[in-house]
Amino acid sequence: MEKWRLVQKKGFTNLDDIAQFLSLDKDKKARLITKKEFPLHLPLRIAQKMPKNCLENPLALQFLPLDLELSDEGMIDPVGDVASSKGKALLHKYEGRALLLVTGACVMHCRYCFRQNYSYESEIDKAIAIIRQDPSIKEVILSGGDPLSLSDRALSALMAQIEDIDHVEIIRFHTRFLIGVPERVTDKFLYTLKSSSKQIVFVLHVNSALELDSDIFSELSKIQKLGVPVLTQTVLLKGVNDSKQKLYDLFWGLVVHGVIPYYLHSLDRVKGSLHMEVSKKEGVKLINSLRDCLPGYAVPTFVEEVAGRRSKTIINV
Ligand SMILES: *Cc1c(COP(=O)(O)O)cnc(C)c1O
Ligand code: SF4
Repeated sequence: MEKWRLVQKKGFTNLDDIAQFLSLDKDKKARLITKKEFPLHLPLRIAQKMPKNCLENPLALQFLPLDLELSDEGMIDPVGDVASSKGKALLHKYEGRALLLVTGACVMHCRYCFRQNYSYESEIDKAIAIIRQDPSIKEVILSGGDPLSLSDRALSALMAQIEDIDHVEIIRFHTRFLIGVPERVTDKFLYTLKSSSKQIVFVLHVNSALELDSDIFSELSKIQKLGVPVLTQTVLLKGVNDSKQKLYDLFWGLVVHGVIPYYLHSLDRVKGSLHMEVSKKEGVKLINSLRDCLPGYAVPTFVEEVAGRRSKTIINV
């Protein structure tokens, strides 16, 4: 078995195990909930970064299933993706770009995730056929789930299928995998990127400087050295990154490693996540305050996904 799979297997899926690992007292342990359709799924690396017996920190809030999620407020499909999926595995909402739902699997379950209610019947072959027949699609975004959940062999086979389509010029990765298992950057994966006939763009989802460390940056730099731009996207979340200092630490920490913050997303209002919502007005204030202390390229665009629109919507209230 590939080494990164073994690392992945060391993660937590059992509430008793994580409660013990984090030395949660009885009251705190009682706040963990079982959500059958979106259970605890937490890589060891992230658990090791969590403070003991604490539920109020940026990592616990993002990754532990808490009683706060039991609220009925919010929507099942806040961004209207079910309505716009073609051949189930393909989301073609924006001109020139199509998003391929490669797999439903992720290395971690982020509690605010707007895709947590999707059922994936990945019909990749059908999706590839649609891309092949539509010359307007110039960029294919590999998303999911997390595309890096695939084995190296499956990933390179998928890339080969896309590379075979002349009108596709860019292949973009949307992934969070390295935050949990940086070992995923294998020599084979690097070779697949390096030998691609298309321009690759790599977008990492990261919300807090606490998620990052020197191992992760060293793996990212292997990707950067191939001439692949590495960008990030971040979701603005209450208690996680809703202060000027926390956003500064994250974005400055990225740009000193040559990683460019691309988007700051307002939360998609999925059911059970609204306790993490930050108002748009507050978000705009935060972003504007960062312009005073960061270079322009370190300040991402603050956006939201509005069902039915042909692009992300820039928030400017
Ligand atoms: C976000 C998104 C994209 C990519 O949008 P960019 O603004 O190009 O980053 C493409 N397709 C879908 C369905 C999306 O949600
Ligand atoms: S890794 Fe991405 S797709 Fe998977 S649960 Fe987290 S936010 Fe959702």
